[in-house]
Amino acid sequence: MENLRIPGPTPLPNEVLQAMTRQMINHRGEEFGQILNDVTAKLKQMFQTTQDVFLLTGSGTGGLETAIVNTLSPGDKVLSVSIGVFGERFATIAEQFGAEVIPLRFEWGKAADADAVRQALQAEPKIKAVLVTHNETSTGVTNDLASISSVVKEFDKLLIVDAISSLGSISLPIDDWHLDVTVTGSQKGWMAPPGLTMVSLSQEAWQAHSKARMPRFYWDLAKAKSFLEKGQTPWTPAISTVFALSVSLEMMLMEGLPNIIARHARVSKATRDGIKLLGLPLFAEESCASNTVTSVKSSDGLEVKKMLQILREEYQIILAGGQQTLAGKIFRIGHLGWVTENDIETVISALKVVLPQAGFRRAG
Ligand SMILES: *Cc1c(COP(=O)(O)O)cnc(C)c1O
Repeated sequence: MENLRIPGPTPLPNEVLQAMTRQMINHRGEEFGQILNDVTAKLKQMFQTTQDVFLLTGSGTGGLETAIVNTLSPGDKVLSVSIGVFGERFATIAEQFGAEVIPLRFEWGKAADADAVRQALQAEPKIKAVLVTHNETSTGVTNDLASISSVVKEFDKLLIVDAISSLGSISLPIDDWHLDVTVTGSQKGWMAPPGLTMVSLSQEAWQAHSKARMPRFYWDLAKAKSFLEKGQTPWTPAISTVFALSVSLEMMLMEGLPNIIARHARVSKATRDGIKLLGLPLFAEESCASNTVTSVKSSDGLEVKKMLQILREEYQIILAGGQQTLAGKIFRIGHLGWVTENDIETVISALKVVLPQAGFRRAG
């Protein structure tokens, strides 16, 4: 079996794989209604929220579009807090639908600074919403969302969060932190296959929804809400992925959210420690390093592409490269969802052998 260590999709436990072999059922029938209600209730526990939570068929990016088109109108000013590729994507979606995006960018590998967010909000009082990535998967950085949220709420703005690669793995108490819209995706920390995006919405976000005029049809959450009241989704859902998520949520509740969060913290620390022992520099600043993905800088002659190839062909270990301007400069180890220290030990042991084969000459 491959050791798939990219930041989603992740390997899946056997119980979850089995769930996907189930025969199809009527998505407008009673049985599916019960499963949908049950999955939604479990998601609310994992989201630590009493807000509405919706299960939508699509990938995480669809969830980001959902967040934008359900709360904003063309011409609305939004502050885009961006620390990497996914922050830029979020801003692009808002821009494509006609928002006036005010960018607030931070150096890749670092976290956003809450004081800079305060200054940006002071400088432009007409800003309606703030877009922020909780965990930037492209750089392996987790933002201090509690601090950012308290600043955004000083100004009483909507806070719209891409938590696609953090929710369910890294602590994110949605109600305590007053997040208005929060988005995640089934193939990241949820031990489930791709196909679903899950989105929560606060009362304030619903108020924004009633005035929001961006075009929306497939992603209209008013439709999702009225159908959920009868145990349905507006459109045909990814039934097999719902079966799988139902089982994985059961497993997650058994393990318990605090234990899951602690496991991710342990595994990520083991990853960073292992990388440092190999003599490679970490790309993300360690104070904000992510617990779901570790980014590693290429150095001392290491050819990332060659390394990834040898790992894949000779060890069946799949790691991720860098995206966009980071291609060839970093590689990333995903450690989210179904992962333990053993999975990472295997990666580190293989790297020990493969790094010199891929040009790495440890200094000193
Ligand atoms: C994976 C990811 C996305 C994109 O999700 P897709 O499911 O590929 O559409 C967006 N933002 C973050 C932070 C991600 O990790």
